[in-house]
Amino acid sequence: MDPVSGLQRARRVVVKVGSALVAGSGGGAADSAWLAAFAADAARLRARGQQVLVVSSGAVALGRRRLGLKRKALTIPEKQAAAAAGQSGLMRAWEEAFEPHGLAVAQVLLTRDDTEVRRRWLNGRATLETLLDLGVVPIVNENDTVVTEEIRYGDNDRLAARVAQMIGADVLVLLSDIDGLYTADPRRDPAARHLDRVSRLTPEIEAMAGGANAGAGVGTGGMATKLAAARIAQSAGCATVITLGARPSPLLAVEQGERATVIEPGTTPSAAYKAWIAGSLAPGGALIVDAGAAAALCKGKSLLAAGVRRVEGRFGKGDAVIVRDETGVEIGRGLCRYDAADAERICGLKSDAIEATLGYTAGPLIHVDDLALAARTEA
Ligand code: GLU
Repeated sequence: MDPVSGLQRARRVVVKVGSALVAGSGGGAADSAWLAAFAADAARLRARGQQVLVVSSGAVALGRRRLGLKRKALTIPEKQAAAAAGQSGLMRAWEEAFEPHGLAVAQVLLTRDDTEVRRRWLNGRATLETLLDLGVVPIVNENDTVVTEEIRYGDNDRLAARVAQMIGADVLVLLSDIDGLYTADPRRDPAARHLDRVSRLTPEIEAMAGGANAGAGVGTGGMATKLAAARIAQSAGCATVITLGARPSPLLAVEQGERATVIEPGTTPSAAYKAWIAGSLAPGGALIVDAGAAAALCKGKSLLAAGVRRVEGRFGKGDAVIVRDETGVEIGRGLCRYDAADAERICGLKSDAIEATLGYTAGPLIHVDDLALAARTEA
């Protein structure tokens, strides 16, 4: 991917902003000048019709100042307390930055479970999609106050990659204190070469990340966590752009050809997501559909309750199920929006009768975006 057109054409962009950028190096509140310039840069993308989500660190850095916790090494409970105290200031700073552009922001705090347990993942995704469709800029951070050491991401680079995967983003921008990946640490080795593009994250590339970018001080992520994030993004079909964040308009800078490293996506976000549904999830049951529904699915439609004849097996809301026609041929696999008992109650019903039967509706049984059609060889 060429970073210039990649960023210009992306439908959804996730930008990870680290503590050093948000909190600045001074002793006061957030760096409002940088945030204002960044918001203008992000608003430019929104005005072009692109959706932007920000993953922002800075809660701990701002909170420790607010609480006067001066020691460099804080205990875990102290860090969690600092995060709680700093998160509100962090959001206030983002609100103020986006306000002049008429853009609302929304706080979304996630834990690793929210991005890994499928049902929570689906809920989180639905909320993020709704926010994006409403034109809001979600500001995501880890819910540091409640996570324990064992279950935390700890760095927002990987959290940002998971969020990019969750919303099917095309581009993940990791704003760093260095303008990309080098063959060695350029601050120590004058022979270090900048890499513009990386298509495969080989062990050699991973080794290059050792030590580079280690001097950031305020945040937690170094180049190694950036590459771990890029690996997650790559397998989700999302390109990663690592570039210098300290510039006032880092996204514009990339579009103007300033230095950055692009880690190419392995596939497209939708193909990666469908491959995951088709290959990695054990189906809990099956939906047997009539010929009309089978034909509609093959034409790229969602699976409506009206076309379902029978429900087999036990599965929960959001679980993977197999879709078969009445002769037993597998049409595809998808995530069912109802559990087996509710699916059974509504099968054969028209969509507008679902609410009266169940007391709620979650739309089609399987949305087309959550359906991976079985590969077929044409006769
Ligand atoms: N969630 C942490 C914070 O808001 C930051 C983690 C990181 O720097 O990657 O302070």
